[in-house]
Amino acid sequence: MPNSSKKMVKPKVVVSKCLGFAKCRWNGTTIPDSFIDKLKKHVNFIPVCPEVEIGLNTPRPPIRIVNNRLVQPKTGRDFTDKMNRFSEKFLNNLKNVDGFILKYKSPSCGMKNVLIYPNKDTRKAKSQGPGFFGKKVLERFKGLSIEDEGRLRNFRIREHFLTRLFTLADFRKVKKSKSIQKLLDFHTRNKFLLMAYNQKELRILGQILANQANNFSITADEYEEHLRLALSRMPRYTSNINVLLHAYNHFSKKLNAKEKKYFHHLIDEYRDAKIPLSAILVLLKDWVMRFDDKFLAKQTFFQPYPEDLISITDSGKGRNK
Ligand code: SF4
Repeated sequence: MPNSSKKMVKPKVVVSKCLGFAKCRWNGTTIPDSFIDKLKKHVNFIPVCPEVEIGLNTPRPPIRIVNNRLVQPKTGRDFTDKMNRFSEKFLNNLKNVDGFILKYKSPSCGMKNVLIYPNKDTRKAKSQGPGFFGKKVLERFKGLSIEDEGRLRNFRIREHFLTRLFTLADFRKVKKSKSIQKLLDFHTRNKFLLMAYNQKELRILGQILANQANNFSITADEYEEHLRLALSRMPRYTSNINVLLHAYNHFSKKLNAKEKKYFHHLIDEYRDAKIPLSAILVLLKDWVMRFDDKFLAKQTFFQPYPEDLISITDSGKGRNK
């Protein structure tokens, strides 16, 4: 099967500790998360609870964002400076991290949609924004795979998160090798994936390699910057169809009329959001093996992350959310 024999690099992911790692929520509970459980086998997690790290007990009276301060309404204590100091120190010490999974809507960990109140007593929020720790993560690690557990329930967002995560972890290994040949191989095996994500950035990445300086670090840094840009937005399904047709052209002369008809039927179903991308990829992967297409066999597009994560990713729901 394409890419399956290759051992994937384990990404390093910082995760909010209350997502199944410890009972550290304000009310002394944890939140089991089946997606995170499944990921444990494939990812090196770094669990952290910023509220516990700044010295808060569990259980504890909840904290909230009041205007631009992080406060505990019941006690009137203000944790803004402590939380900012902890976040900066913790994030500055992180090395070789590829992504983050943060707790949805938390005034500390949340990356967006966290309620912001006009004062400590009112029940009605005035606006929304990131939590204190989440905001520093977004500022400091722009371009990495960062999501909250709420958004990851959407299969399209999960698919994008995982693709970016495993591609960036793979690149990190290539960068560490300081081998230009490994960088060229990385580019070759990600060609279809990058074509689906961002054709303009794919061209720029090709130019960076064609005009490479005699200095691996300079080339790799420039490549990394554009790789992150290329992966910053999830691919449109029309771009995926374009790449699927590109792959199909490798076999079209070898297929019989019924097989061709079935492939185009699947493309129509995918276009109408009736089936997930993986349903067509299964068919194409089968043809890659049947016709022993060595170029396509290497393409990460067919399997950008470990195979057993696909079943929880492509539920067939969630397009355009
Ligand atoms: S959301 Fe963050 S700060 Fe709150 S309990 Fe979970 S890990 Fe701790």
